[in-house]
Amino acid sequence: MSHYAYDDGDNAIVDTADNDAVDQENRRAGPSPERLVLSVFDQKGIRQHNSIDGARDDTDGGGISDHDDAGRVLLQNKLRPFRKGSLVGNVQKQRIEPLHHDFALDDPERESRLNELHEAKRQILELERKIQELEGRIPRKYPDVTFLNYKNRKRILITGGAGFVGSHLVDYLMMKGHEVIVADNFFTGRKRNVEHWLGHENFELIHHDIVNPLFIEVDEIYHLASPASPPHYMYNPVKTIKTNTLGTINVLGLAKRVGAKVLIASTSEVYGDPDVHPQPETYWGHVNPIGPRACYDEGKRVSETLSYAYAKQEKVNVRVARIFNTYGPRMHMNDGRVVSNFIIQALQNQSITIYGSGHQTRSFQYVSDLVDGLVSLMASNYTQPVNLGNPVERTIQDFAEIIRDLVGCKSKIIEMPAVEDDPQRRKPDISRAKKYINWEPRVPLQEGLMKTIDYFRKELARSNHSQRNIFVPETTEFRNLL
Ligand code: NAD
Ligand code: UDP
Ligand code: UDP
Repeated sequence: MSHYAYDDGDNAIVDTADNDAVDQENRRAGPSPERLVLSVFDQKGIRQHNSIDGARDDTDGGGISDHDDAGRVLLQNKLRPFRKGSLVGNVQKQRIEPLHHDFALDDPERESRLNELHEAKRQILELERKIQELEGRIPRKYPDVTFLNYKNRKRILITGGAGFVGSHLVDYLMMKGHEVIVADNFFTGRKRNVEHWLGHENFELIHHDIVNPLFIEVDEIYHLASPASPPHYMYNPVKTIKTNTLGTINVLGLAKRVGAKVLIASTSEVYGDPDVHPQPETYWGHVNPIGPRACYDEGKRVSETLSYAYAKQEKVNVRVARIFNTYGPRMHMNDGRVVSNFIIQALQNQSITIYGSGHQTRSFQYVSDLVDGLVSLMASNYTQPVNLGNPVERTIQDFAEIIRDLVGCKSKIIEMPAVEDDPQRRKPDISRAKKYINWEPRVPLQEGLMKTIDYFRKELARSNHSQRNIFVPETTEFRNLL
């Protein structure tokens, strides 16, 4: 039985069949993109030789002269390496060098095998080149975007646009026909969330930490950059504060310089562990300034304060959205927030972990509702803070049972120690949003959860990089697109 393998320089081993020895061989070969490794095994699985670029592998003393099976194997299988697209780029880098003639040249049979090898390699390179050329001609397919003429098309910056909420906002604004620039440091965001727009003429992705100044020209800014899940924002509290203070100053400085309208993504956390229920925007909150959540809660409170200071002093046109718990596809698998935790636990038949008694409440909104709210708020003339959340309130215990039923699993629901300063009740009063921006959420919990469960099921089923699970929204996701 013979196998061969190609080291494409990215640890992606192609066609190694079932032989571990080949894997080992390629790992040993290292990530050099300049090496085409051919391994041939005899009936007992012993490696006979490798490398068709002529480089001898001294680890086993094998060489092309010893085992002339190589030419035949390669010729028989020469088209097989083309199965992986990633091969193409690397082949360009290969050096074509004469093979080592470490055997008697007067042996006509060996020389003819050597010529066959040269010919096979030439044909492979030629085919690789053709494939690359053809691939370049295939136009990328993007979701359908509306055409906006230059008068109506805006240039819009989304900080944190590669994150969960930001990437859905990108989808909406792109489909509306605007030019969208994402600035993200990829702390909790991923390129994969906006991958379906890469290369589109209206889209740009900038790797940028908003703690540093950013000089670009835009008409509107959605400032979403900040970790949002408690484990993420507690991971580096100092950085969380910097992002929400220095980062917000930079965004407001940019808005001031270019005269852009700016929307700040604030949070229901500005109400802390509230003693008013439900929470209207007029409530000043109940926040522990030195507790574990303070880096986020106080950071967002300063962010709001900065917004109104820039509005008053520098006439910056600001909008402030106080976002309540939001869920949906593209939440990070390690997000640590309750929706992703419970769904992932249920899908794997693991115990569902409730922190504390489970009597604490939250109100969950589906992400497309939030995007509609953010866009409506930006478009409105209303400048005071606006709550954006779904007022249907549930206990965390109820929520665990709902998810278990929807997934249809037999997970146990278990109690874990309560977390410090966990807000006990949370429900938005959305009368302001209804009155001033004509907005209220529409997606029922069950419908939104089914989409989210479906997304996480596909995430868990991924076993290799080529299974992309790219969530591309339908136009029906957003009411303003209808
Ligand atoms: P997320 O963590 O998925 O997205 C945040 C994005 O900001 C990520 O892409 C991250 O890489 C980026 N980021 C973080 N620090 C940055 C920095 N210094 N510079 C540049 N980029 C940076 O979180 P999300 O749920 O999408 O939240 C988005 C915004 O909405 C946040 O500001 C959050 O506070 C706010 N919010 C969200 C919720 C919710 O339930 N999802 C609730 C209230 C408020
Ligand atoms: N800033 C920025 N981009 C701009 C304009 C300003 O990042 O296009 C930053 C600037 O570097 C400064 C911050 O925003 O750190 C606040 O700017 P502002 O003009 O309010 O303050 P100043 O520069 O006068 O301190
Ligand atoms: N929670 C839980 N189990 C988890 C994750 C969270 O019981 O695995 C609880 C958490 O203690 C809080 C609620 O669910 O009471 C919502 O937590 P989340 O982290 O989603 O967001 P928060 O609203 O606290 O910012």
